[in-house]
Amino acid sequence: MLRPLSTLPDDLARSLVGIAFDVDDTITRHGRLEEPACAALWRLVHAGVRLAACTGRPLVWARTAASLLPIDLAVAENGGAWVRAVPGSPRVEGFYDPEPARMAQRAVLHQVFERLRHEIADLRISDDGPERLVDLTLDAPGRTLTPAEVARIGQAIQAVGGRCLVSSVQVHITLCPADKASGLRRAAGELLGIDLDAQRSHWIFIGDSPNDAEAFAYFEHSVGVANIEPFLPQISSPPRYLTRSDRGLGFAELADQILAARSSSHTSPLPHGPLPPR
Ligand SMILES: [Mg+2]
Repeated sequence: MLRPLSTLPDDLARSLVGIAFDVDDTITRHGRLEEPACAALWRLVHAGVRLAACTGRPLVWARTAASLLPIDLAVAENGGAWVRAVPGSPRVEGFYDPEPARMAQRAVLHQVFERLRHEIADLRISDDGPERLVDLTLDAPGRTLTPAEVARIGQAIQAVGGRCLVSSVQVHITLCPADKASGLRRAAGELLGIDLDAQRSHWIFIGDSPNDAEAFAYFEHSVGVANIEPFLPQISSPPRYLTRSDRGLGFAELADQILAARSSSHTSPLPHGPLPPR
């Protein structure tokens, strides 16, 4: 059962190492970064909290996010790729699967799409599809795909050993075994030298959609922004806590609570050793 965010333990807030967060409809509204969420990111950074964006968006999009936002890394394409962009240092990137595997997977994804486009009216590759290096995103112009159509897409991709993931924005088909949890684990290890398995009880994940389910399950302390509620029946592993506010306002609510708890105590040592510079 989802608990109010206000019941998040103060001890967790004080010993928190980092926050991993979904992007669309978690820190954005109508695709734009919300002002309170942007301010919250900076306030968390100044309080020493590590930040990892984790999105279904393409890697090229995550490169921009990693460069523009005060974050330690950005995981893209639902865990299939990741990037770290430290000012003054070369950008570092990684992929869950090696390039030959990704190329073979993408050929099959396009075959699946060609099959489906004859069955589902107006089905198309989303406008960010050509930018993608791991998965493929599908939509229909001017309308939302119906649950039956999404189920059909799921059947078609499962028939070739893949998965269908649904975000608040798009339907993804992928043959990459990564998800937001496994992608974050690999990215944190490769880019930050962090063993996330060892630290995860000192991290929080916050998101809003079915493609966040694996991260909700992996992180003991997971939070849903209030706009997650319509998706809850589709989420096998719901978050533990729920914010009162939606989208970026919900993210800011989480930051407010953590920072208030941390400012009320200056004695809790962080449970990690030295971390690489931002
Ligand atoms: Mg989202």
